[in-house]
Formats: sequence, structure tokens, C-alpha cells
Amino acid sequence: MIYADYNATAPLRPEARDAMLAALEVGANPSSVHGPGRKARKILEKARSQLATAIRAIPQDIVFTSGGTESLSLAIHGVVRKLDYDCTLLVSAIEHEAASKNAGYAGANLETVYATDDGQVDLDGLRQRLAKWDTKAAGLPVLVLMLANNETGVIQPVSEAASLVREAGGLVICDGVQGLGKIPLNVSMLGVDYLALSAHKAGGPQGAGALWMRSGAPLLPTLFGGGQERSLRSGTENLSGIAGFGAAAEAAAGDMETMRTIGWYRDRMEARLVSEAGVTIFGRKAPRLPNTSNFAYNGFKAETQVMAMDLAGVAVSSGSACSSGKVKRSIVLSAMGASDALAECAIRTSYGWRSEETDFEHTAEAWLEALRRRNMKETA
Ligand code: PLP
Repeated sequence: MIYADYNATAPLRPEARDAMLAALEVGANPSSVHGPGRKARKILEKARSQLATAIRAIPQDIVFTSGGTESLSLAIHGVVRKLDYDCTLLVSAIEHEAASKNAGYAGANLETVYATDDGQVDLDGLRQRLAKWDTKAAGLPVLVLMLANNETGVIQPVSEAASLVREAGGLVICDGVQGLGKIPLNVSMLGVDYLALSAHKAGGPQGAGALWMRSGAPLLPTLFGGGQERSLRSGTENLSGIAGFGAAAEAAAGDMETMRTIGWYRDRMEARLVSEAGVTIFGRKAPRLPNTSNFAYNGFKAETQVMAMDLAGVAVSSGSACSSGKVKRSIVLSAMGASDALAECAIRTSYGWRSEETDFEHTAEAWLEALRRRNMKETA
């Protein structure tokens, strides 16, 4: 089977697996003061350092969580509460539901920042909105903007957006989940205040994540209990998951050359699909993650494509893989101005550390064959 669904979950890196098994062997609580507890603490802090190095941060600014969704939840609800609801969340139209739904439930004012047809947030629109910002009426501006989109791979102009928001005295919460391990990350260069991360998109295990926060950035905890993670996220840490996260982040950050090669294979695959079938590639004109290709062929329904590809031994997903496994209309493609008819025909392929050149060739072959069969049926 060719696995082309890394943006849903990347296969576990061997480095992560080894670190997880070693952590499981310890079997102690990192908060315990005895020897085994101290051993567990050492593993936890090693992972924190590994992740910090991967994003060019300092370890003390990282809070471990259960994943990207929880990190976004902590950042969004924690900021809104700390600001006593005196803020407006400016949420980009292409955010993952982990960000947009938490923003929706946060109890603060909410505004949408629209996207361009290329799939990037509309910086001019943001600039204009901030230029007439009335803090008395709207409170502090808090931008919620992802680093790279999970469906299209389009990389967002985060540092430009962040400097606009900073000039207006506001804060930026960034969903970095799809960026980690695919493009080099440097929190200072991004200029954001909070960065949400998840292990399983970078070759770590599911169920581990982190929130990086700028030192001194306002935040109230949303989970209360034993006071772990500087009291910002109580609850015994998922030690093996976190150990795997640290090891995966380190391995991925040191493997950017593979990602560059993958980008080259992806471009070649897309060139073939365009020349032989005239597919529409979403976000092609914008900077994109090297591993992602989201394309559509008008009239060829995504569900049919996904099933045909599965039968041909290629695992892909339609638009955004949602938890129910059902296909729903893509908010992202709609925000980019795609018609519903075309968006319903979009599939996402995404690759990663274990992908090989032949995976891209087989994806193209399988898809072109599926199209030929479908066309034959149509004309029969
Ligand atoms: N943000 C983005 C952009 C994602 O793609 C995902 C997962 O699909 C999440 C957040 C949620 O991360 P997690 O699955 O770790 O909760």
C-alpha cells in the first residue's frame, strides 16, 4: 500500500518508536522525587529540549498537551479568559476546526479574516481592519492563523500578519500543526505569541502535543489539578507519547533535505496530472508545504476517487479527513473561491519521511487509470 495521507497522520518514525519503548520501560511518574521518578523527569525534559531545538525556542516556554486540538483550546480559551473576554478573535477563514470551533466557543467577539484565491490569508484585508481598530469597542485584537493549511498545504504569511497585529498591540495564536517537520520552524522569526503543535503529524505518536508560548504572554490554564506543566496543563504527562514527540521532532527537523526532495517529486507528479488530465491544483501559485498536493477534476467525485485509489493500493483522503470518515464540503476550498461542484471533486495527497519517488509515480498512474475507467463508464 502506498500511504499518501501524512497530513492526517504520519507513520511513526523509528526514532520515536525507540524513545517511546524506552519511556514505557521506566514506568514512573515524572513528578515523583524518587529515582525512577527522576528518570521519568529526565525523559520528559529531554523531549522538551528536543522540541525546543526543532522550533528554535527555549524549553521552558513549552507546555506539553494531548495534541494539536488541546494546544489550540488552551491557547484560545486561556487567552480570552486572561483578557477577561475584552478581545476580538480574528479567525482566518481557512483554519482547521480545532482552531475555528474553539474560537467559536470562547465567548469573545469573533471576526473572520478572509482568504485569497491562492489560499493565503488576505493580508490587505487584515491591514485595513486593524487600521480602524477601536480597542474600546473591540478589545484587544487576537489573530488566530495557521502556519500551513492541512488541505492545500498553502503556507501562510504568518510573520507579516504577526507584525501587523503587533503594531496594533494585539496577540497571535498560530496553529503550527502542519508545519512541524515539513518546513524549518523558528518561533522568533514567526513573531507569534503562541504556537500549537502535534506529534502525530511529524512522525510522533497520536495523543501528544505542545503549546509553545512567548515568555510573558498572557494565559490562564483551562485544566486544573496537580499543577504539572507549570500549572498551565495539569494532569500526569503522557511520558511515552511525549518522548516519541521529542524524538520525532528532532529527527524531522534534521531531515529537511528529504522534504525538499519530496517537493520535487510532488511537482513532477502534479505536472503530469495537469498535462495528461488538466486537473486543477489548489494553491499552486502560493508557497506550499513540499509534501501536499490537493487537486480536482470536475465531475469526478472525491468519494469515487478515494475508493478507486484505495482499490489500487494508494491511501489518499478527500479534502480534509474528518473524524466521522464522511466527506463534507471543504470550507477551505470554498474560502478560496472554488465552486461547490469542483470542491466536491478534490482529493488530497500528502507524503512524508518514508515516501519514495515511485510512490508519486504510482499515485499518478493509479489516478490516471481511475479517470480512464470513469470516463469509459461515462461514455458507455
Ligand atoms: N490543526 C491542524 C492544521 C490539523 O491538521 C490538525 C489535525 O488534523 C489539528 C490542528 C488537530 O491536531 P490533533 O489531531 O493533534 O488534535
